[in-house]
Amino acid sequence: MASLAKDFFIGLSNNDFLNKSARKFGTRFGAERFVAGTVFDAIIPTIRELNQKQIACTMDHLGEFVTDRQEAEHAKEKIIDMLHQIHNEKLDCHVSIKLTQLGLDIEEAFCIQNVEQILEVAHACDIFVNIDMEKYIHYDRTLKILKLLRKSYLNVGTVIQTYLYDAEKDISDLEDVRLRIVKGAYKEDSAVAYSSKAAIDKNFLVIAKKRLLGKTFTSIATHDHHIINELKKFIEEHQISKDHFEFQMLYGFRVDMQHQLVKEGYKFCTYIPFGEDWFGYFMRRLAERPQNLNLLIKDIFYTEDNKLKKQPIIIGAAALTMLLYLRKRK
Ligand SMILES: Cc1cc2nc3c(=O)[nH]c(=O)nc-3n(C[C@H](O)[C@H](O)[C@H](O)COP(=O)(O)OP(=O)(O)OC[C@H]3O[C@@H](n4cnc5c(N)ncnc54)[C@H](O)[C@@H]3O)c2cc1C
Repeated sequence: MASLAKDFFIGLSNNDFLNKSARKFGTRFGAERFVAGTVFDAIIPTIRELNQKQIACTMDHLGEFVTDRQEAEHAKEKIIDMLHQIHNEKLDCHVSIKLTQLGLDIEEAFCIQNVEQILEVAHACDIFVNIDMEKYIHYDRTLKILKLLRKSYLNVGTVIQTYLYDAEKDISDLEDVRLRIVKGAYKEDSAVAYSSKAAIDKNFLVIAKKRLLGKTFTSIATHDHHIINELKKFIEEHQISKDHFEFQMLYGFRVDMQHQLVKEGYKFCTYIPFGEDWFGYFMRRLAERPQNLNLLIKDIFYTEDNKLKKQPIIIGAAALTMLLYLRKRK
């Protein structure tokens, strides 16, 4: 059942028509719990508030699988504007980008050029840029581009997904690179990725521990308290400095735990997605945790003070009447 729900939401996240249609609605249907807004300006107070609570942020201007050059260039401009604003407003904030938003599926050289322009501004503003890891079909090219960019820019890193069989081998090549370790959010073939939670979690721990003992800063990105607790023990046993790593979670997830980790003296960073292309991101979050569907249903059917909204009742009643009518006609 859980796997069916996962496949269903992953399927929706890849649906081009739904992704495009959702842009018209702004963040709605419960997505506003996980997507901070549609424009960066409006989110600055949220970032400031988190910074005041010792929480750093990484901003994701949502968008992926772009197939139009103008759209990719527009995304690049938006990211560059955001870098200037982060710098001018002195926010404790870095940026996460996706190569398919910047033209990877259009032309590799064009994508690299876009990322170089972003990195140039980020370097001038002293801001780190993280390249999110997407579906496996983009994996090798993402690592290849990262290595190429690292020859000119040191303010760039990427993500390793522990569901991939190759993850452990690949981190040995990335010892000098700041990495974020995640389980992996996409549906991948069993030829390249583990599918059982136990195997993915085991690999997460192996990789995170190797990185913690290594020489470069690592972001441990998970909401899984079992993993966090085991790593906390490991960190203490090996007397690893709290400046050598940070925990990361997504905006709107396990907020109490985010604050608790800060209280315990750990570095913490919240990943904040924003923008009009929220649909694919939101569907992947529902795929990971179908319980989030409860929030969505609550938002559709109930007002903030827990009263049933009238509109869905009217639509539901109309749909039911229609169904009964059609059955009667048969
Ligand atoms: C900061 C950040 C950046 C990411 N970047 C990428 C990326 O670039 N590429 C990519 O493929 N993926 C990325 N991901 C997504 C990641 O790969 C996982 O899909 C996602 O984090 C879910 O896995 P999990 O580690 O949180 O644990 P899960 O396996 O989803 O959860 C494990 C357990 O933790 C508990 N739990 C989890 N969430 C909650 C909750 N909300 N409330 C209560 N209990 C909960 C439950 O007990 C659950 O069984 C990112 C995730 C984060 C946090």
